[in-house]
Amino acid sequence: MTKLEFKMVDRCCPLCGSRDDSFRFAESTVDLSKLDAFAFASRKMPDYMHWRLVECRRCDLVYASPTPAPQSLGVAYDQAAFDSRSEARYAAATYAGFLPRIKSKLIDLDGALDIGTGDGCFLEQLLDAGFTNVMGVEPSAAPIAAATPRVRSLIRHGVFRVADYAPGSLSLVTCFQTFEHLSDPLAMCRDAFYLLKPGGAVLFVGHNRRALSARILGKKSPIFDIEHLQLFSPASVRRMVTTAGFANVEVGSILNRYPIRYWVKLLPFPAALKRGLINIVDVSRVGQLVVPLAAGNLVVIGCKRDFVFPGR
Ligand SMILES: [Zn+2]
Repeated sequence: MTKLEFKMVDRCCPLCGSRDDSFRFAESTVDLSKLDAFAFASRKMPDYMHWRLVECRRCDLVYASPTPAPQSLGVAYDQAAFDSRSEARYAAATYAGFLPRIKSKLIDLDGALDIGTGDGCFLEQLLDAGFTNVMGVEPSAAPIAAATPRVRSLIRHGVFRVADYAPGSLSLVTCFQTFEHLSDPLAMCRDAFYLLKPGGAVLFVGHNRRALSARILGKKSPIFDIEHLQLFSPASVRRMVTTAGFANVEVGSILNRYPIRYWVKLLPFPAALKRGLINIVDVSRVGQLVVPLAAGNLVVIGCKRDFVFPGR
């Protein structure tokens, strides 16, 4: 991996475009000399580094400013390592729990795009659920190389670009643990709206900075991370999806199901201690036990017109 260098650029609030309502939330803790190949990898050991953060009062959004220019981030993601195949599988199964409910209201199951698909685990869930013309897009090369033959050819290597897809062609757009990473998350939502058919839906999962776990851990929460250019709350994520044009927006929390070894990785302890604990749970095989916990994730579902959920 080549040494990471970033051209830093100032940023306004990525939701409302204002600077006036923002105040300092935290100074940058980034030390580029300590970054390794996993700095921009998914489900890594937290490194507790984050850019300078400000909070927009108007949107309830915490966002990084200045941040690396999008081009330099693209290089960092392309080169990021990948070692979380098993955890990605558990996450995909959790997110797939929302599919039956969404499917029952979609006009058809033709055209589904997963943005930031990693090794494409969720694409397998979409295929199993009966979706056709399933696609993923992923900026990192390593997870694509780890994808199963069933889905590898469905993954486009690169950053998500709306021009790569036909407008009005999709029934479902999903995006998991990714909108925190984007330089312009509102543009991604608007692009998703543009690509969906009328009656299509989005399903997003991300971190909730107002969740109990995040409030207890404070700046020791793994959500404060060099990869995260913004941190949402239920209010700010609703604002983003509604501003992009979606209706019947629902925001809720989810229970994540992961093996104990992954939960240990997230504990607010020094890395050496955590490696010791992971060894212990691995040797005793306790590490593979799957435990559901409220890890402070929020789920957002929205529709492009005429999409109403059962029981509402
Ligand atoms: Zn704002």
